[in-house]
Amino acid sequence: MALRDIALTENATADLNEEDFDTLGWLVDAILEDLDSRDLPSIACCDACYDEFTSTWPLARLGIYGVEQTSMGFDIFYQSAGRVQGVVSKTEFERLMEYVACPRCFRPIGPNLYAFEFPFDGERQLESSLSRLSALARRTPFFVLAYPLAVQVRREISELSSRLLPRTLPGNWYRGRLKSIEEACSGDFGPPPKSITQEGRYNHAGRPVVYLADAPATCWEECRRPSGPFSIARFAFKHPLRILDLCEPDGLDQGLAAMLFSSLMSAPSENNGWDRPEYTITRFVADCARFESVDGILYPSTRFGNGSNLVVLDVEGFAGLASFEEMSPFFRPTAGVFSSG
Ligand SMILES: [Zn+2]
Repeated sequence: MALRDIALTENATADLNEEDFDTLGWLVDAILEDLDSRDLPSIACCDACYDEFTSTWPLARLGIYGVEQTSMGFDIFYQSAGRVQGVVSKTEFERLMEYVACPRCFRPIGPNLYAFEFPFDGERQLESSLSRLSALARRTPFFVLAYPLAVQVRREISELSSRLLPRTLPGNWYRGRLKSIEEACSGDFGPPPKSITQEGRYNHAGRPVVYLADAPATCWEECRRPSGPFSIARFAFKHPLRILDLCEPDGLDQGLAAMLFSSLMSAPSENNGWDRPEYTITRFVADCARFESVDGILYPSTRFGNGSNLVVLDVEGFAGLASFEEMSPFFRPTAGVFSSG
């Protein structure tokens, strides 16, 4: 799936005569040379496999957290592709592009190429590993820990945690409730009682944690854009915290970075039922962090652009760590004000 893997489609040999087939070979070489000079990101996909690629790697679609993303139309490409122009006319180019294969799905590459760069290597090899781990998480979640990639992530979190120093968190943090400001009171915004705590992204059922967002808009998006009255409480942290920061992928080791960028950790959850296998791996990561006495995890919002969330793992200590500052009504933004992730 690297750009340099652009090749011929399977049917090129059967469909083309010898002369066209030779021209196609020169065309592919010329495309690669012209692409090389553009210094594009190295991971590529086409229109046909873009959705599959970005559902495997959800943070790629958001284009945030260190992912470089570029798209390029071959129509425009031809106009400035000197080497390609030296090999074929525009008409020949359009005819023969039917036989140029996408490096990811091997289908005809189509009108557009999408190129990405991740802050870790070997995404193609990791995909099969992540897919096996996902199957394990769905079928036999306790066996996740025996899987090599999970063992690696646990080791990486342990090593990272041993180097973590308490840090002062910037700004204010927010929690939202589906209540009007007249109905809401400060107690509504504290940690939920155990008896009504459902399984969440970073918590087991019956084990509350405190989820906070970096901005009121992130809060509203994370609550899936409620249409009714919505109130926001603002919190400030009183003490520095030891935070596992998943919003800075450059500071993460390869296994954890790959897992974070994959659907194992960053797929938005649509499931409102009891079965939430998409949370198995994030809860595993939370357990690794909790085991290392980390106070919280900072992680990218899968629903709102550059928004981030913080989960405080020690619910009992939350009142001592953060102070309730104020609460206010949240007004639904007018269309187009926010770009949703
Ligand atoms: Zn493709």
